[in-house]
Amino acid sequence: MGNPIILTVDDDVQVSNAIERDLRSQFGNAYKIIKTLSGKEALETAKQLKLRNDQIALFLTDQRMPEMDGTTFLQEAIEIYPNARRVLLTAYADTDTAIESINKLGLDYYLLKPWDPPEEKLYPMLTDLLNDWQINNPPPFEGIRVVGYPWNPASHQVKNFLARNNVPYQWLEIEKNDEANRLMKLAGNPSPELPYLVFPDGSFLSKPQNVEIAKRIGLQTVADQPFYDLVIVGAGPAGLAAAVYGASEGLKTLVVEQEAPGGQAGMSSRIENYLGFPQGLSGSELTHRAVSQARRFGVEIVTAQKVVGMEADGASKKIKLGDGNEVRCKALLVSSGVSYRNLEATGISELTGAGIYYGAARSEGETVKDQDVFIIGGANSAGQAAIFFSRYAKTVTMLIRSESIATTMSHYLVDQIEATENILVRTKTEVKEALGSSRRESLILTRDPGQKLETVSAGALFILIGAVPNTDWLGDQVARDSHGFILSGSDINSNEQKISVSTSNRNPYMLETSLPGVFVAGDVRHGSIKRVASAVGEGSMAVMFVHQYLNTV
Ligand SMILES: Cc1cc2nc3c(=O)[nH]c(=O)nc-3n(C[C@H](O)[C@H](O)[C@H](O)COP(=O)(O)OP(=O)(O)OC[C@H]3O[C@@H](n4cnc5c(N)ncnc54)[C@H](O)[C@@H]3O)c2cc1C
Repeated sequence: MGNPIILTVDDDVQVSNAIERDLRSQFGNAYKIIKTLSGKEALETAKQLKLRNDQIALFLTDQRMPEMDGTTFLQEAIEIYPNARRVLLTAYADTDTAIESINKLGLDYYLLKPWDPPEEKLYPMLTDLLNDWQINNPPPFEGIRVVGYPWNPASHQVKNFLARNNVPYQWLEIEKNDEANRLMKLAGNPSPELPYLVFPDGSFLSKPQNVEIAKRIGLQTVADQPFYDLVIVGAGPAGLAAAVYGASEGLKTLVVEQEAPGGQAGMSSRIENYLGFPQGLSGSELTHRAVSQARRFGVEIVTAQKVVGMEADGASKKIKLGDGNEVRCKALLVSSGVSYRNLEATGISELTGAGIYYGAARSEGETVKDQDVFIIGGANSAGQAAIFFSRYAKTVTMLIRSESIATTMSHYLVDQIEATENILVRTKTEVKEALGSSRRESLILTRDPGQKLETVSAGALFILIGAVPNTDWLGDQVARDSHGFILSGSDINSNEQKISVSTSNRNPYMLETSLPGVFVAGDVRHGSIKRVASAVGEGSMAVMFVHQYLNTV
């Protein structure tokens, strides 16, 4: 972002040059001077500057111009930059018009031509105006601006994607935010579909998919090579740990992530039980550190790209990606984790993303400000979400089916919840139905089956109830248990499901699946302990078995 701008408009080239020269000599260090020769050109320039989020501090325009006079120009220009100071350059004969404009346009000053000497007639007055402008106009936000509706699935998806990828953005709520409405006006007719993203270079995207945003912000969405030693599916703690160990030990490593690195841990507002961080650390910080470490060792991380299938092709594996591309590898690590179980209740699916969310997207913190928020779930993830939202919401009500959160949640979280005044816990309570529009919903609650139903008004509902493994894309290529979790090592043959699998003539290594050369780590593994540290541990261990496997092929 450069210096704020002084925009001049004068159709007389000589006068225009003279103004520019004088302004530059006095204000050139702190302001960028842009000179235009007509109102039309100046308006077009102002629009482009607005899209790039540049600041115009002052308009200095001649009154008498053939196509558009100065007051007409100012009238339109202040629609785009309402805070810019306005100065009209007039001949003596135009003073009446100028005086009229003081009331009509909020004109700050009119300047009579000629303005010699500028030290007396130009600089003192402009200095006052610019100082006043500086006090009231802090530097603008430098990242992406997102215009959207608050309770809208597509807006939620965009905000969540940017936040999970640690990309700073400014959220501008349509109807409530004047700047949002100005940007929509500049976008012209017909209005673009929301959410509407305006980038610092002035370019924009309307209702984009994650992959389009990823490309625009410079994330890698396509693998560089056709063949890798190790491909890792999923960039949660298990996948990132495996990537660091794999690449640091010389394996050409690719990680494919369908959304953003970090996995479930990336959604955690505070991980307090990870070794070495006595004050705890946020999931996004842990992710940021892990991603930097992996990249330092040369790991390629492709984001916003889903793995949709896998095939064994001789000793190598063919990985199919959502965009139709394929990559091959010698060894594959599945660390695709788990997703939240769906809540089966009327109205939930219709409102998902519009006030009802799976998981605890931290990007919704501001959206629930001063609202009554509900959270379904009694595990640690729900407890963390409650503490996080209690900083924004008026009240946070946790709904659990059991008699106490103490049976399902870590002691330190139970203590924090009990000590937080605006968190309430309703035990033996279920949600039967969600009613509402796209803006606010009511929930029909019930205590103990058979009791009277109760309807409460909810600003937002966050669902964190148990997990299902992300393994559908594997089909029957590897053995899974009856819930879909992947079997590995000695679990393959001892599993009561007695799934017949294509093993080689040796016993599978620990963390190796029923398909030789395909490994599994983290929450997606049958029997795993659902914790960050265990996922990291398994991801690191898996690499050792990958090496053993590679020595055999
Ligand atoms: C809100 C919350 C708070 C938590 N807090 C704690 C805590 O304080 N302490 C603790 O120890 N544990 C905590 N946990 C649990 C911990 O985060 C998980 O155990 C851990 O993240 C599991 O890591 P993972 O790598 O196995 O899987 P995940 O973290 O689930 O990561 C899997 C990744 O794979 C990606 N993926 C899935 N399918 C595909 C596909 N087909 N193609 C490409 N990518 C795919 C996903 O998008 C995801 O990024 C918390 C969990 C949550 C949800």
